[in-house]
Amino acid sequence: MNLILFGPPGAGKGTQAKRLEDRHGLIQLSTGDMLRAAVAAGTALGLKAKAVMEAGQLVPDDVMIAMIAERIALPDCRGGFVLDGFPRTLAQAAALDTMLDSKRLRLDRVIEMRVDDAALVRRVAGRFSCAQCGAVYHDDFKPTRQAGVCDSCGSTSFTRRKDDNAETVKARLVAYHGQTAPLLPYYRDKGILVTVDGTADIDAVSAAIEDLVAPRPGPR
Ligand code: ADP
Ligand code: ADP
Ligand code: ZN
Repeated sequence: MNLILFGPPGAGKGTQAKRLEDRHGLIQLSTGDMLRAAVAAGTALGLKAKAVMEAGQLVPDDVMIAMIAERIALPDCRGGFVLDGFPRTLAQAAALDTMLDSKRLRLDRVIEMRVDDAALVRRVAGRFSCAQCGAVYHDDFKPTRQAGVCDSCGSTSFTRRKDDNAETVKARLVAYHGQTAPLLPYYRDKGILVTVDGTADIDAVSAAIEDLVAPRPGPR
């Protein structure tokens, strides 16, 4: 099964992609994580991307398309993947179609996680993650079980993204509405778009996604 988790910054894409990885062995392909790894490693690409990311703008299409093409070609993706944060422009979506066609792969579903902008600002402003294993938390909505200790790995060191501040989130939302939301009709026309209520709590969103991925037999 090949999926796109689609939605604005803070919609919960990463949180749900991790769960799909755990439950179904789908590979999470997060372009944001790949870019942050490049920034941390100080590669040439990372140096270029850093300022763009900190301004809340989109990294150029050619860079992103090359990045995902290289990753999606690796054999582990053959068992199914979840795209998280890609595509974000029509040019990226078109390139993805070409890439998948050439490998005789297809997208099964594009799952839109719909959340209003006011809620997103709060989501992003409270986001932090484990410095050791990358598990993602939220000050109010998903605190660690034990204060200051990662649920997953027990580490006591955490980080916050530099672009997760109220100001930059506004720029990211402008980019989302202007450049990324136009992909919704693109995928609706292909008949693969489904929308879930991203404002529900994390478990409820997971259940809604689960029903799309592995439908439970229901009463007829
Ligand atoms: P995205 O990958 O779409 O940017 P994340 O999965 O990182 O979003 O979630 C953004 C923040 O909101 C994180 O701090 C996460 O813990 C929290 N979060 C995720 N899903 C929900 C939800 N359904 N309700 C409340 N908070 C959520
Ligand atoms: P979020 O889901 O919270 O918006 P991401 O981690 O997906 O954040 O992305 C962080 C930043 O990385 C974006 O604001 C953008 O600058 C860059 N980025 C990630 N994916 C893409 C992409 N597909 N195209 C262009 N820029 C991207
Ligand atoms: Zn951890």
